[in-house]
Amino acid sequence: SAKKLGRNCWQFYQSAMNDEAQERLRIEGALRSAVERNEFVLHYQPQVDLATGRIVGMEALLRWQHPELGMVPPQRFIGLAEETGLIVPIGAWVMRTACAQAKAWQDAGLPPLRVAVNLSARQFAQPDLVASIEAVLAETGLPPACLDLELTESLFVDDVAQAVELLHQLKALGVKMSIDDFGTGYSSFSYLRTFPIDVLKIDRSFIADIASDADEAAIVVSIIALARNLKLRVIAEGVEAQGQLDFLRAHGCDEMQGYYFSRPVPAGEFEQLLKSGRELDGMQQLLRA
Ligand code: C2E
Ligand code: MG
Ligand code: MG
Ligand code: MG
Repeated sequence: SAKKLGRNCWQFYQSAMNDEAQERLRIEGALRSAVERNEFVLHYQPQVDLATGRIVGMEALLRWQHPELGMVPPQRFIGLAEETGLIVPIGAWVMRTACAQAKAWQDAGLPPLRVAVNLSARQFAQPDLVASIEAVLAETGLPPACLDLELTESLFVDDVAQAVELLHQLKALGVKMSIDDFGTGYSSFSYLRTFPIDVLKIDRSFIADIASDADEAAIVVSIIALARNLKLRVIAEGVEAQGQLDFLRAHGCDEMQGYYFSRPVPAGEFEQLLKSGRELDGMQQLLRA
């Protein structure tokens, strides 16, 4: 019957939808309660000064430990959190936790470090963004210059004038600002002149083959030169090998972040890393030579 046929169609449609849609619904539901249930945790990845070999900063990276789904990587839930708006409370938790942690390490007498926090488009569009960051700085007592906001180029495409205005308000708080994944997005060089940013983070897709691919190498050398000329600091992301490190150092890159030095690690492990005084391999010999 037509009724039965319709029902079969529905079932067919439903089963095709099943995997992806059900997974989304499941994750969305779980995401809603994740903050209250304390299922989020931040890992920290060191940012190392290439001239001294020392840790000068860290990026806070969100991890979701779900009781049944296990460790859910950010790629599997940030997009959904963004679409549903859940990224706003989650991002607020990240900001508070990262700033409080950085301040706690300073209070414990560890060398003062910068903490980098990723901001999503949805957070960037919140009318109270500046006030909420100001409140977190006041609450935690973290010096504003120790907070580094990581922004992606995609945040600037919609309304450039409004983005510039917002960045100036953030800048007035005294925080630092970085362009994350630089080179992968809307790389209009004109915004680099008008935006009050401090750091370019070269996307790791450019770093992967710098030691072997002449084109990739040329791009990275150009980004470093661009940053230098604009008096911005430049950080290479995704450094995994000595060859990449040597290349970056030879071309005057300021800092590196990547598995070669350390993966993102839980706070306790990061603290051990700081206390151990570990520096980039070979730096001491290099400086003494
Ligand atoms: P991102 O901000 O570009 O962060 C760098 C990513 O590269 C991290 O992935 C880090 O673990 C990874 N990475 C670092 N060094 C290496 C390396 O040497 N090799 C390789 N293969 N990967 C490396 P992760 O932690 O999975 O985060 C992925 C993305 O999720 C981040 O990219 C960021 O866009 C987003 N994200 C993470 N935490 C947050 C957050 O708190 N808020 C928001 N809005 N987004 C976040
Ligand atoms: Mg980042
Ligand atoms: Mg990045
Ligand atoms: Mg990224």
